[in-house]
Amino acid sequence: MTERIREFLRSRREDGPCLVVDLEVVRENYLSFARALPDTRVFYAVKANPSPEVLKLLAGLGSCFDTASVAEIEMALAAGATPDRISYGNTIKKERDIARAYELGVRLYAVDCTEEVEKVARAAPGSKVFCRILCDGAGAEWPLSRKFGCEPSMAVDVLEYAHRLGLEAYGVSFHVGSQQANTEAWDQALASSAGIFRECAERGFNLSMVNLGGGFPTRYLKDVPAVEAYGASIFQALCRHFGNAIPETIIEPGRGMVGNAGVIEAEVVLISRKSADDDIRWVYLDIGKFGGLAETMDEAIRYPIRTPRDGDAVEPCVLAGPTCDSADVLYEKVPYPLPVSLSIGDKILIEGTGAYTTTYSAVAFNGFPPLKAYHI
Ligand SMILES: *Cc1c(COP(=O)(O)O)cnc(C)c1O
Repeated sequence: MTERIREFLRSRREDGPCLVVDLEVVRENYLSFARALPDTRVFYAVKANPSPEVLKLLAGLGSCFDTASVAEIEMALAAGATPDRISYGNTIKKERDIARAYELGVRLYAVDCTEEVEKVARAAPGSKVFCRILCDGAGAEWPLSRKFGCEPSMAVDVLEYAHRLGLEAYGVSFHVGSQQANTEAWDQALASSAGIFRECAERGFNLSMVNLGGGFPTRYLKDVPAVEAYGASIFQALCRHFGNAIPETIIEPGRGMVGNAGVIEAEVVLISRKSADDDIRWVYLDIGKFGGLAETMDEAIRYPIRTPRDGDAVEPCVLAGPTCDSADVLYEKVPYPLPVSLSIGDKILIEGTGAYTTTYSAVAFNGFPPLKAYHI
């Protein structure tokens, strides 16, 4: 929560929940990444917060962009990024979307199987491709599934196939899982990457790049290591596994770039109990899973919540959203302590909500409009 956001909310007149992002914080985050990993290019993961203001700021600072669709590529271009600073990082692409990206000048593509390599070879001839490998995501609060990536042993075949089809077999990528609290989480995947580099060299072609992905955390309720600790640990792992032949590297921070820059203001719509002697109160907000708080799914991400009554005695509460979907409950397995004095109509602040909120907000489920956002 910054003074600029507080000031903005004080003068806001519109009704309804909103996200306010302080662009100064995004700028500081970018500079911290650049300082902590000085020889690494930053590709901001656009999906975390694709607002034109964020993209324009980052483009101006020299950031590159990791995109998942033609629409995201167009957003990055509109913000001032040149196509050589854009990666089409989704391993699942329609061939006509690859062709469109190629037309727009994009020459860097993610793959994780030979079938996708064939599409890229046809629709984006001569481009650079990197192969994504599986990574178990241990230590991450929002682990990624087996949906993306292949076994390291298969990656060698995928890259060799790309090389044979006239693409540039450029490197390897992985993602250690989002909100990764363990600074050592990159070690195992870097060991695998070095193995793939060696194997490819033996087969007669050389890789150049390791894409270290995202995973850098935002502070929610618990402290997280500083970005410098991640930089140091990654650099050590690179030295350990690549010796004096450290490859070109890139990172793709999403959450770590924008998460702590945003605060959502919401309103308490109702406070009730399920029986006269129920010791748990239900607190219903005007925002829920469908209004931007999708990452509370399985109670994975636990946001810090500030109320105007902080300091008063607290009581465990179930937190829920305003829609008529019974899945629209935020915290129930582990109830959330909130002041006993909290009242209907109170405005609360949900911190650390700059990433993965506006983009996960439904268009008009139950007639609730998408999450309003202001970038200041
Ligand atoms: C989502 C995503 C990221 C960003 O991950 P964070 O954990 O938010 O930093 C980076 N790279 C790829 C390929 C992604 O899909």
